[in-house]
Amino acid sequence: MSRVGIGYDCHRLAAGRRLVLGGVELPSELGLEGHSDADVLTHAIIDALLGAAGLGDIGEHFPDTDERYRDADSLQLLASVVTNVIAAGFQLENIDATVVIERPKLGAHKHEIKTRLAQAMGLDPERVNVKATRGEGMGFVGRGEGVAALAVASIDPCA
Ligand code: MG
Repeated sequence: MSRVGIGYDCHRLAAGRRLVLGGVELPSELGLEGHSDADVLTHAIIDALLGAAGLGDIGEHFPDTDERYRDADSLQLLASVVTNVIAAGFQLENIDATVVIERPKLGAHKHEIKTRLAQAMGLDPERVNVKATRGEGMGFVGRGEGVAALAVASIDPCA
C-alpha cells in the first residue's frame, strides 16, 4: 500500500544571501537565510519523503548545529535522503510541492526547478510537480519577509 508524507518549511529573506529553490539560483535582491543554502522547497520535499518512510524529520538527519551542513547543497541532502528511503525498502512514486513566494515569479523557472529536483531524486520529471502561489500581501510571505514551501511525497514498498 502506498504511503504519503507531508513537508513544510519556511525561511527568512535577507540581503546578501542567494535565493535557491529546488537547486536553482534565481535572480533576486534578497535571498534566504539559513544554516545550509536555505533551499526551502528542497527542505519541504526532504521532510515529505522522511515522513512517508517514517524516518523522522530533516532536523534529526541534518542538524543546523552541525558544521558539516553549513552552506550545504540541499540537493545533495535530498539525494542522500532518497538513498535512505530506498534502503528502508521503498520506491518513490511522486512528489507534489507548492512554493509560497511573493517575488520573483516562478513561472519561467518551474521547468528547470522540477528537472533538477527530479535528477537529484533519480526520478522521471513527470513524477515531480512544482507549483507556486503568492501571499497576496498578507502574512510574512505577503510582506516579503520570507518564503514558505509545502510538499507531499508518495512512496510504495518495493515488492
Ligand atoms: Mg529549512
